[in-house]
Amino acid sequence: MCESMNRSLANVLFGGFGEEAATEEMEDIYEGNITETSPEELEMLLDTADRVVIVPGYGMAVAQAQHAVAELADMLDAEGVDVEFGIHPVAGRMPGHMNVLLAEADVPYEQMRELEEINPTFSQTDVVIVTGANDVVNPRANEDDSSPIAGMPVLNVGEAGTVVVNKRSLSPGFSGIPNPLFAQDNAYMLFGDGKEMMQAVVNEYKES
Ligand code: NDP
Repeated sequence: MCESMNRSLANVLFGGFGEEAATEEMEDIYEGNITETSPEELEMLLDTADRVVIVPGYGMAVAQAQHAVAELADMLDAEGVDVEFGIHPVAGRMPGHMNVLLAEADVPYEQMRELEEINPTFSQTDVVIVTGANDVVNPRANEDDSSPIAGMPVLNVGEAGTVVVNKRSLSPGFSGIPNPLFAQDNAYMLFGDGKEMMQAVVNEYKES
């Protein structure tokens, strides 16, 4: 993976954020198991999708990617794709954080689905785009009783056909733990800033 990205594992793990040294655990989970994708490939996936769910997190707020994300959803909707947003109650850093940002970008209220509503739909979803979310899509919450997020309900995005995770690196989220979702066979990492990557996908979609 690092070869294909022309970056060292440490560089990929820490991105540009100067976080603590990589834990052995993270290396065990990620090494050799991460597949990178590109805006072009994501656009191709979207071209054949009937149902798409977008899951935003804290990184969408950092990147101010809500307008690009809203534009992408709008274009998918115009093409007849069933598109919804999966909103976790603690995504971001304050209650309602994601809803406020998406509303600001004119995402229709009907497209915003709460965790209880969206979770049963992932198994019938072709593509999930996770942008700037990490803890709220971490399957460890369901699988590991000793995890700091054990018991927290999470968005089960790994049940979808394909999951594309957009973030800048493999750095952990707020809880500081690795996320095995990124190493799943049906998961692809779209590394980069949320706004830049979502805008790049929008541009690819317009050109297609
Ligand atoms: P997380 O903090 O788990 O993950 C956010 C991810 O965003 C990071 O892993 C980071 O990865 C990525 N990111 C940061 N900047 C950018 C960028 N510019 N472009 C793309 N990605 C970016 O966020 P979640 O929303 O998934 O989870 C929220 C967490 O915050 C939970 O643990 C929750 O308990 C906690 N919390 C929530 C509160 C609330 O009321 N909502 C209050 C307090 C805490 P990378 O660095 O690789 O880009």
